[in-house]
Amino acid sequence: MSLIEKALIDKIKVKANVLKHRAIDQHVNLAVTGLSRSGKTAFITSLVNQLINENSQSQMTFFSTIHEGRFIAAKRVPQKDLHIARFDYDSAAKALSEEPPCWPLPTKGISQLRLAIKYQPNNSIIKYTTDNATIFIDITDYPGEWLLDLPMLNQTFEEWSEVMTELLKQAPRVEIAEEFIQRLESLSPFDPVDEKLLAELSEQYTQLLQTFRNEMGLSLIQPGRFILPGDLAGAPILQFFPYTNFSDIDLDAYQKAEEDTLIGMLRARYIEYKERVVKAFYKEHFVNFDRQIILADCLTPLNNGYGSFNDLQQAMNLITESFRYGKANFLTRMFSPKIDKLLFAATKSDHVTPEQHGNLTSLLNQLIHPIRQKINFENITTETIAISSVKATQFGKSQHQGKTLPVIRGIKLPERKQITLFPGMVPKALPAESYWQDNSFNFMPFAPLESTGLHQPFQHIRMDQVLEFLLGDKMK
Ligand code: GDP
Repeated sequence: MSLIEKALIDKIKVKANVLKHRAIDQHVNLAVTGLSRSGKTAFITSLVNQLINENSQSQMTFFSTIHEGRFIAAKRVPQKDLHIARFDYDSAAKALSEEPPCWPLPTKGISQLRLAIKYQPNNSIIKYTTDNATIFIDITDYPGEWLLDLPMLNQTFEEWSEVMTELLKQAPRVEIAEEFIQRLESLSPFDPVDEKLLAELSEQYTQLLQTFRNEMGLSLIQPGRFILPGDLAGAPILQFFPYTNFSDIDLDAYQKAEEDTLIGMLRARYIEYKERVVKAFYKEHFVNFDRQIILADCLTPLNNGYGSFNDLQQAMNLITESFRYGKANFLTRMFSPKIDKLLFAATKSDHVTPEQHGNLTSLLNQLIHPIRQKINFENITTETIAISSVKATQFGKSQHQGKTLPVIRGIKLPERKQITLFPGMVPKALPAESYWQDNSFNFMPFAPLESTGLHQPFQHIRMDQVLEFLLGDKMK
């Protein structure tokens, strides 16, 4: 062998070694979010379940690593950030595998889980230098409500109060918010306030937010932490609220108000909240995410009516603001986030018949359209998809008045009664108010389908496409 040939081979070996280590040390921080009840817990449980139980019964055709026969195995390994709660996969998977199966309890704050996936790379150089490679996936689950707070960073207390007041004084919120607004009007903002009264009023405001979300199905909740406080439950930093009477007070006196007055204390807490809660989340967590999936349940608001659907649209616009990284954007200046792929998923698509899935995807597309344009422009690849993490219904056909109709069949909760129905048409575009007069959409909770065992993959819709979009390129 000539000296030149030897040098060339040595060079190839060094390069191969570098690539080998790069392949072995691959690592992706995958973030999962969505408003409460959007399906985060079911989604993460299914994603982990599909990967660790991959077998001949898996329906994973669109995940190229599996389809090309390069997937070897996946297992859970201890998480990296020990100060973050562990995502309780075992309890969730057990609930879904029970007889009869139940939905897992939803997560309430931030939690994490780490997966190691062993696979065979198809990149030719890596392939010849190592039999297989490992990719570590750190999955972080966090409430979408926390992203609703981002705009607050750009607002003074006075500006934020004005936006919230407008919202509280409009239908559908005004009916139940009126008492709170009147109580605030009866207090002098410049009188000293004791912490007990502040705590009591904050509790009243938090209850209002809970009612908006849990009973009225509204999505635009600020501050988002108030309804999902995580480890901050009961902390004074969550004890403030918008002042709803700014139009009647002297703004000069407001600027000079001492910190022990009602308005002064509200302002001080608001500033503290932005620094220690909102900014802290972006600095400690958000900046580390590489890939993001945002889950949205469009079907429940469709079922609830115009007010609820309209609110979802506004909330989705606020949530997606966090992914606008243009150079001039304050988010980029403050935190330098690095997410390069963002997937929007309409969840629970097993609640509609398959020919409606296209409409469901295009409805979600329309919901996020204004912001998506800007995100695409800023070099984040985005995609929308309709999924079901864990199927609860089977699709079928039924005869009705001489016609064949597509139907879904499932076990309705809580009574556990088998039901067959055509749930209704999903509008392709954002529906006008009249949609709810002419159409009815029948969304009812179904039990998850019986699983074939704790170590078997759950039935799903398009989880393989989700994996391909989020991880496929990292496992070539
Ligand atoms: P989280 O609050 O975002 O963690 O939401 P969960 O994952 O707890 O889901 C909330 C509820 O949505 C569950 O209890 C189920 O009733 C329902 N759900 C979630 N995923 C699916 C799905 O793929 N199909 C159906 N039919 N229902 C789902």
